[in-house]
Amino acid sequence: MVRASRNYTEKFLVAIGKSYLKALPHKTSKNSYRLQFAFMFSLLFIYAWTQKIYLIPTCIRRTAKEQFDRYQKGRTIAGKKVTNVDGYKKKSKHQRWRAGDVLVLAWEGNRFQSKWRPIEPYEILGEFWEGLGGTWGGRWKLRDYCHFEI
Ligand SMILES: [Zn+2]
Repeated sequence: MVRASRNYTEKFLVAIGKSYLKALPHKTSKNSYRLQFAFMFSLLFIYAWTQKIYLIPTCIRRTAKEQFDRYQKGRTIAGKKVTNVDGYKKKSKHQRWRAGDVLVLAWEGNRFQSKWRPIEPYEILGEFWEGLGGTWGGRWKLRDYCHFEI
């Protein structure tokens, strides 16, 4: 989904994000990236709220072993492949505290339901994330709509 123009809220939150990045010294240090990610991830939740998209975080930090276990899916374990990153030779941004997965909730009946589909809310968030300068997993060959990283 491509939208012609960003709304005011989105522009404002992106401006906050960019100012924050300018205010961060030593932009290439490990801790600086982590601070950057944490702040951007917070802005993602704020932005989602303004768009009436209700989110919960599902995974941020992952160990090499946890990543390796995911890598086995669709390889040594039945199911579809979910990642091309094995956690050892190639590290996930989750291992560096620079990625977060989210789940969109929908209010149905009288309770929240978890929704991996439709993907439209994830696309709205992905575009916002890219506006902040981040990388959205929804663009990858092995689509990962719920994944946001820097
Ligand atoms: Zn992820």
